[in-house]
Amino acid sequence: MEKKKFETKADLLLYFVKGSKRWFALAVLFACAVSLLELINPKIIGYTVDTLIGDTPSRVSLPVSVLINVCGGEAVLKENLWMVGAAVVFVAVLSALSRFLFRMFNSIGAETLVKRMRDTLFDHITRLPFSWHSVNHTGDIIQRCTSDVEQIKMFLSEQLTSLLRVAVLIAMALFSMYNISPQLMMVSGFFIPVIIGYSFWFHKKIGSQFGIVDSEEGKLSSIAQENLTGVRVVRAFGREKYERSRFEKQNAYYTGMWIRLMQLMSAFWASGDLISYVQLLCVLVFGSYLAVNGSLSAGSFIEFITYNAMLTWPVRMLGRVIANLSKAGISIERLRYIMNSEEEKDLPDSLTPDFHQDITFDHVSYSYTEDGAKILDDVSFTVKAGSTVGILGSTGSGKSTLMYLLDRLYPIAEGNGRILIGDTDIRNIKADWIRRNVGMVLQEPFLFSRTLSENISIASESKGIEHVHKAAEIAQLSEAVDHFKDGYDTFVGERGVTLSGGQKQRTAIAQMLIRKPPVMVFDDSLSAVDAETDAKIRAALNESTKDTTVILIAHRITTLMHADQIIVMDKGRIAEMGSHEELVEKGGIYAKIYDLQMQQSNVGEEDANE
Ligand code: ATP
Ligand code: MG
Repeated sequence: MEKKKFETKADLLLYFVKGSKRWFALAVLFACAVSLLELINPKIIGYTVDTLIGDTPSRVSLPVSVLINVCGGEAVLKENLWMVGAAVVFVAVLSALSRFLFRMFNSIGAETLVKRMRDTLFDHITRLPFSWHSVNHTGDIIQRCTSDVEQIKMFLSEQLTSLLRVAVLIAMALFSMYNISPQLMMVSGFFIPVIIGYSFWFHKKIGSQFGIVDSEEGKLSSIAQENLTGVRVVRAFGREKYERSRFEKQNAYYTGMWIRLMQLMSAFWASGDLISYVQLLCVLVFGSYLAVNGSLSAGSFIEFITYNAMLTWPVRMLGRVIANLSKAGISIERLRYIMNSEEEKDLPDSLTPDFHQDITFDHVSYSYTEDGAKILDDVSFTVKAGSTVGILGSTGSGKSTLMYLLDRLYPIAEGNGRILIGDTDIRNIKADWIRRNVGMVLQEPFLFSRTLSENISIASESKGIEHVHKAAEIAQLSEAVDHFKDGYDTFVGERGVTLSGGQKQRTAIAQMLIRKPPVMVFDDSLSAVDAETDAKIRAALNESTKDTTVILIAHRITTLMHADQIIVMDKGRIAEMGSHEELVEKGGIYAKIYDLQMQQSNVGEEDANE
């Protein structure tokens, strides 16, 4: 899909409007038809009162006089007033039909536009880098994709085409009014810019209040969303009361902001009403004066008043359009933020090298924020192709970060070292290709609310069920699945809530194994399984991953002691590196942790024997 930067709000709107322009064109056409048709009936009524009922001759345009002659002339019409009634009904039906077509085309235009908008947004969001997602709240993004899109739809379908309709109506009505009485038209017309100017000034002033309301709503949905996602933690820590009060506080603030906005809006509508009544009063007084004077006929006066009444609402509407202009403007701006966020991009001529090669971390330093603490500090090591490397280290020492960098989920800034596959810098490799070749079992596996087998084959849908079974077997998951009533068709619930922590981890392992990538990373992926299952998984893995490069992050030394090389991380640096035997011999951190864990497991065994 073609992507470009949107310099202004109009750019973004036009980009989306383009695809629905024929529907909007039809809508505008019928909107104009409605405005024109609406002007006819007051004319017929004025003519009837003055000429057919009274005796004042009316000025009628040529096509109208032809029409009157076709009907048999004025005399016949005077005798058959029902014909005039029929004409009024006919015009009203035409007007209703045009209004129906206007609404229909307008809705089709807006709905197709909004569909395209949602598709494009979702598509774009899935291409945004991991780092973007870690700083933008899910609730807020969802709100932008729903409420803001809805706001823009409202604006386009209800306001914008109406704006044109209203403009045509105002122009035509003023013209007709001018024809009746230029002086009276001046009186009525004087108020139009006043009302429009007033609403424009008002909505300019309250624009920021709309922005505040929107962002407070975003915060509110973020809190709700986070709480629903973390419902277990909230319950487990008895934080319901705290979370409830946090929500209530935000909700109260948000409501307060809305009330403030509504107060302002009410003030606007009330004062607008006042101006409209003053206008009506002036027209009535001055019009009556002219009528009494004899310079305005009764029919013309009725016709004029009808036009004037016809204008009141559209002119007031203009204020609403302007109100929605600022609201829609803010919504468009919020979508522009998403659409202008840089997608994850590959360098031109990116490569797709074979991953059965050494992986080298070459003086890699990293911090998540520009001025933040160094999470990794000059880390260098090589993982030989086909070997197994274990990474051990205290929590927060940067182990997961190393793997995120390898997967290019976060980019390494220029000058902060590089990661090589063979001789190729990963910056020059297609991101897609890296992720296809480096299989990650993340520290916190995420499962979709689908069946177990769908979850296992999530990135390899084309593979048959036998592959799912095989992968589950290696991950030591098959035994557990046999106990499930629906086997592999068991529904795992939202984020896998119906599975145990260990089962979830093993599902994630199976998910990766089915893809058989040349590089496999297990980020603390065996932490939730018992030592025996851990050993079984590793044995099965050894069998099936002979030429695979394996990176094993663990806190349990027994998980990684058989690795060809073990790296011990400490505060973002490599503290020690070597084989299990070498490190034990050395008597450093690794040896200490090993002793400690051995003692604990001996104590555990003794306890169990007693
Ligand atoms: P553990 O054994 O607990 O999994 P780890 O060694 O994997 O720890 P990392 O997850 O790499 O540790 O985190 C290293 C440091 O980076 C931590 O201090 C953490 O606070 C910080 N960190 C991690 N992710 C982010 C992030 N997205 N933004 C900012 N800081 C982060
Ligand atoms: Mg980690």
